[in-house]
Amino acid sequence: MQKRDYYDILAVPRNAGEEEMKKAYRKLALKYHPDKNPGNKEAEERFKEAAEAYEVLRDREKRQIYDRYGHEGLQGTGFTGFRGFEDIFSSFGDIFEDFFGFGSRRGGRPRSRQGNSLRYDLEITLEEAFTGKEAQIAFPRLTNCDVCKGTGMAAGAKAEVCGTCHGRGQIIRTQGFFQISSTCPTCQGSGQIVLNPCKACKGHGKLRTERKITVSIPPGVETGSQLRLRGEGEAGENGGPPGDLYVVIRVREHDLFMRENDDLVCQIPVSFVQAALGDSISIPVLGDDKPYKIDIPSGTQPGDVIEIPKLGMPSLRDKNSRGSLYVKVQIKIPQRLTKEQREILEAFAETEGLQNNGNGKEKKPKRIWDKLRNK
Ligand SMILES: [Zn+2]
Ligand SMILES: [Zn+2]
Repeated sequence: MQKRDYYDILAVPRNAGEEEMKKAYRKLALKYHPDKNPGNKEAEERFKEAAEAYEVLRDREKRQIYDRYGHEGLQGTGFTGFRGFEDIFSSFGDIFEDFFGFGSRRGGRPRSRQGNSLRYDLEITLEEAFTGKEAQIAFPRLTNCDVCKGTGMAAGAKAEVCGTCHGRGQIIRTQGFFQISSTCPTCQGSGQIVLNPCKACKGHGKLRTERKITVSIPPGVETGSQLRLRGEGEAGENGGPPGDLYVVIRVREHDLFMRENDDLVCQIPVSFVQAALGDSISIPVLGDDKPYKIDIPSGTQPGDVIEIPKLGMPSLRDKNSRGSLYVKVQIKIPQRLTKEQREILEAFAETEGLQNNGNGKEKKPKRIWDKLRNK
């Protein structure tokens, strides 16, 4: 049978570029695909013809030979075209994958992939969140084996092309007119068989090792803050870049200070006398050894809040900014009084016009809820 001209088959001009030919070939491959034309001998021929034309024209060297010497020239180089569908699918797997969803890698060029990213949960105190800190952390991760540099082979050993898939990493089975492609069970898709595996990693190329690093935690972090450490995750596949490490912060609850974004809230107990008369008291401040003096104004009520600007948490977003400290006043009522204190308070009560029976036993106020309770 007379062989047709490759440019005619793809219906492209003789100066067609890579993209143009790829497009033309896809169109034909889709049209004459065996799944779409079961039992159609003519479609099968067209399908093979188009694949062969594309195979030659997309290859610079083969195309030059064909342009100068035609089909005979190619035969002289030992080019035989495709033996069958399996050959075509494995050669153009990447093209078919786009619209048929199968057929993938070609032998010898397994895809590289970025390594997995890892998460490390780190609990710190509020003081540490305030000042920031350098934290030493240790975690297990998969790294390339040092002994074999990730190849999985012992020194001097060579990988052999997998006999099952001939290095493609995929095997293609024909079921009726369907071509089903799956990962080669012999080589697990690598296309290679390591005859003499590295002893250190048992041929996996990777080892689980403990990694120790110092993480610099900036002041102002809060629960849920994530620090991303580029490249500290697991090793990539086939030369792919390593993944990242995400350190996720959890700030422990503090005995005294409660945090609301960049502000801090604390409860400070004062006596009812201090609240009534006013006083100057010392309060503890986060990140500072020296206590801080604040004024309690006379007439302070329970639950009153005193705001002290710039004594809260440092802002993670703005180094020069700091939140406020809110001091919530708790008023303590004495549970026991000395005789002297009682007399003073009774005298005080009289000035307010309050009634008292004078023998140390307060009259029960006749309130509605009291009556109800006694029933
Ligand atoms: Zn190894
Ligand atoms: Zn294989």
